[in-house]
Amino acid sequence: CGIVAYIGKQPAFPVILKGLKRLEYRGYDSSGIALFGDMVNTFKKKGRVAELEAWDEEIISEATVGIGHTRWATHGEPSDANAHPHSSNSGRLTLVHNGIIENYASLKQELVQKGYTFKSETDTEVLVNFIEDIQINNNSSLEEAMRIALKRVVGAYVVIVMEEGFPNRLIAARKGSPLVIGVGEGEHFLASDASPIIEYTKKVIYVNDYELAIISPDEIILKNLGNEPITPYIQQLDMEL
Ligand code: GLU
Repeated sequence: CGIVAYIGKQPAFPVILKGLKRLEYRGYDSSGIALFGDMVNTFKKKGRVAELEAWDEEIISEATVGIGHTRWATHGEPSDANAHPHSSNSGRLTLVHNGIIENYASLKQELVQKGYTFKSETDTEVLVNFIEDIQINNNSSLEEAMRIALKRVVGAYVVIVMEEGFPNRLIAARKGSPLVIGVGEGEHFLASDASPIIEYTKKVIYVNDYELAIISPDEIILKNLGNEPITPYIQQLDMEL
């Protein structure tokens, strides 16, 4: 299982697709990609990463921002519906997640009582709606809603979230699952390990547990869940592909 994301100036789809293929060795049963156009567009399939090559819409040559995922099912069988990315009920948030949300059942119960509906059996779809619910109730930014949500989540995760209306920003966070940021010129890469990144840049930042990264093409802001800024430590990789 793994995640890849891209934000910058080149078409995101080929970068993400290639990156997901490089992460295939980690094991997976399905995969998917979401891209920013006028809206967020999602394509996801059970089976091999190569299934995603069947996505044939204009968006795949135009979009320069996107997130991708290979899934190793923990909650819900391998299927197109359970594959990531998952979107919130309003469609405003779209998220990829590696790991397990251990308290998803109680969170889901709360959300169902509030009228939320679910298209999948995953713990991940609970998480994306939990973040949305906090954002709506507190009238807060996505960043703040994620900080509140992630403090209440029990388990391990790396997540990357896209928000409708904010096409130049991805927000990522981790606890217990790996996340590397590749630092380019006017572009940034995110992945579970450096293998999808090294062909583009050797400059990387390893995100630590309980950190949140707010990423745009020209900027990386790192914070902890207490909203304190953290100075990113950029490392130079000496590995080759
Ligand atoms: N727990 C999530 C699911 O079952 C994510 C699994 C993963 O890490 O790929 O969909």
